[in-house]
Amino acid sequence: MKSCPILINGSWSVPDTAETSPVHNPSTGEVIARVPMCGADVVDEAVTAATAAFESWWQTPPVERVRIMMRYCILLEEHFEELASLIVTEHGKTITEARGDLRRGIEVAEYACGITDMLKGEVLENVARGIDCSVVRQPVGVCVGICPYNFPALVPMWMYPMAIACGNTFILKPSEKVPLTGIRLIELFEEAGLPKGVFSVVHGGKECVDALLEHPGVAAVSFVGSSPVAEYIHRKGTSHGKRVQAAGGAKNFVVVMPDADFEKAVEGLTDAAFGCSGQRCMAGSTAVTVGSAGERFVPAIAKSAESLKVGPTHESAESKLGGVISPQHRDRVVGLIQSAVDEGCDLLVDGRHTKVEKYPQGFYLGASVVDGVKQGMRIFEEEVFGPVLNVMRMDDLDSALEMAGKVAFGNGACIYTKNGGIAREFRHRVKAGMVGINVGVPAPLAYFPFAGWDYSFFGDLHLQGRESVMFFTRAKVYTERWFTEGEGDIWHKD
Ligand code: NAD
Repeated sequence: MKSCPILINGSWSVPDTAETSPVHNPSTGEVIARVPMCGADVVDEAVTAATAAFESWWQTPPVERVRIMMRYCILLEEHFEELASLIVTEHGKTITEARGDLRRGIEVAEYACGITDMLKGEVLENVARGIDCSVVRQPVGVCVGICPYNFPALVPMWMYPMAIACGNTFILKPSEKVPLTGIRLIELFEEAGLPKGVFSVVHGGKECVDALLEHPGVAAVSFVGSSPVAEYIHRKGTSHGKRVQAAGGAKNFVVVMPDADFEKAVEGLTDAAFGCSGQRCMAGSTAVTVGSAGERFVPAIAKSAESLKVGPTHESAESKLGGVISPQHRDRVVGLIQSAVDEGCDLLVDGRHTKVEKYPQGFYLGASVVDGVKQGMRIFEEEVFGPVLNVMRMDDLDSALEMAGKVAFGNGACIYTKNGGIAREFRHRVKAGMVGINVGVPAPLAYFPFAGWDYSFFGDLHLQGRESVMFFTRAKVYTERWFTEGEGDIWHKD
């Protein structure tokens, strides 16, 4: 059985920790690796190595850092299918979804290759007579990335390519549920020529995370995961003097107007609600039908949900839903569906009892559609994070916007309509940081911020895009005056 190594000061090793945690293939239920649960001692070694490496890494010309990043991008392409298969094995998503996970991540590394332009500062001559003022951006130091399980490649890559390109050193703590992809991604980064100590990898859970948050040598923390943990990380990290960006969970609404292109809306919602088995922070987990839209849309989405084949994603491209991440998570999702039934909802499609004969130990769940969801119900308030679509029926767009405004989360929101005026009204007024118009999963690409609001994000500067350059650097302002007379005067020799 594979034991997951840590990386400190350029060497991979398996630490001697008593406690380990299993990594599963959700499609078979098998344990495929064990991950060490590191504590403060390992974290201290990693921070010490990262601090030492920072001294020369931040002085390395940005263009030299870019050359390493470019070699890394080439290696990622060469190992693309190997990495995608690894994602399928430890996460359970389909190979197409795994390729998307990796492709979006590689795009961040490609974006980071343009850092020479993005790091350029500002200058104003003659702020007073003969005095010039300029701003440069310098890296912050040792940065840390703490990741969730649902995007084993993309989420770590939201963080480290930009941090490293900006001249920081980086410590990655992948999700203990999916550590294998992160390890392979960093083996390739090392192969691309990263100097010793610039990158470290540690594993673990709360104890490891707390040690990272408390360590005085850590300057910045990037976190992605559930909202209660994001809030905790932000509070604890900032109280220890670190800058923190912490992206949390979500509850994303997709409004279907009576004039929508229903075929496109059903296609978009099928992917948004059930893709990656609903384990996406941008999952379209609630369809809000307006007026007569429900009569056409609801039977069609139910039919589409029923048609999704559940099965081992590592064996067959026909399988559209693999296992969810763990049996505990499956039970939680089943419990939420039951709570909706108990509170009076109609379970139009019930995926709770789906079995795959060949793999009775797999963590399977079929797609479910719950109609008649209302504010105040548990399934309305909580993030489900499974292949479950809630349906809410509203009389008009105002009611839909009002309802979305009351939800604590503020990640994504979408609308399906053919009316430009309605689309504009929606995008302008809806309380969410990422908005889709006739797009079911409006996840911004590498060069735009991943802009969650409210209970979906804690901090000021988001992941991705120019905001990440701001997050991974700090401004230094020079005010300069140069005298042209007296000693050292090279212009007036006599
Ligand atoms: P999680 O919060 O359980 O875990 C995330 C990370 O935090 C892991 O590395 C874990 O080891 C660590 N952790 C867990 N509990 C902790 C604690 N008490 N103290 C300190 N560290 C702790 O999240 P998950 O289940 O791995 O991932 C799913 C969640 O991530 C969902 O809520 C999803 O919406 C969210 N997510 C958000 C975004 C976004 O951009 N907003 C993107 C992807 C995933």
